[in-house]
Amino acid sequence: MSDPRELYQQVILEHNKKPRNFGKLDPCTHHAEGHNPLCGDQLELSLVVADGVVTDIKFQGSGCAIDVASASLMTGIVKGKSVAEAEAMVAQFRGMVRGELDPATEAPLLGRLTLFSGVKDLPSRVKCAILPWATLHAALKGEAEASTE
Ligand code: ZN
Repeated sequence: MSDPRELYQQVILEHNKKPRNFGKLDPCTHHAEGHNPLCGDQLELSLVVADGVVTDIKFQGSGCAIDVASASLMTGIVKGKSVAEAEAMVAQFRGMVRGELDPATEAPLLGRLTLFSGVKDLPSRVKCAILPWATLHAALKGEAEASTE
């Protein structure tokens, strides 16, 4: 397990098989749908935000393994965080998978999600990994839809 690519594949496969926080919150305070036309990923996010904190978050939809694993891990790490922290994570994740920042030193909020940094070498998969985060950003901004286009 010392090979980061092996760890990456194991985590992706595991979260794709058993996604965490799968479903829909009803009632919710924030909601958005995300769409990645390039791959066909569809995602629906529902959140409960109270006193500036994401107290609960769920996702549903269908997508490729990277999209589903990214959504599963994203919902897990964002739950319990403040809206400001969640937005900072969105920026760090985007920067990381686009290869714009160094995951070792410039993505301190992402923790084990830095395992997605390898996606930057797979241009067709970057949008799959970003989609859940783009949808989170839209939901927190009060926008109903997010697209990776
Ligand atoms: Zn995809």
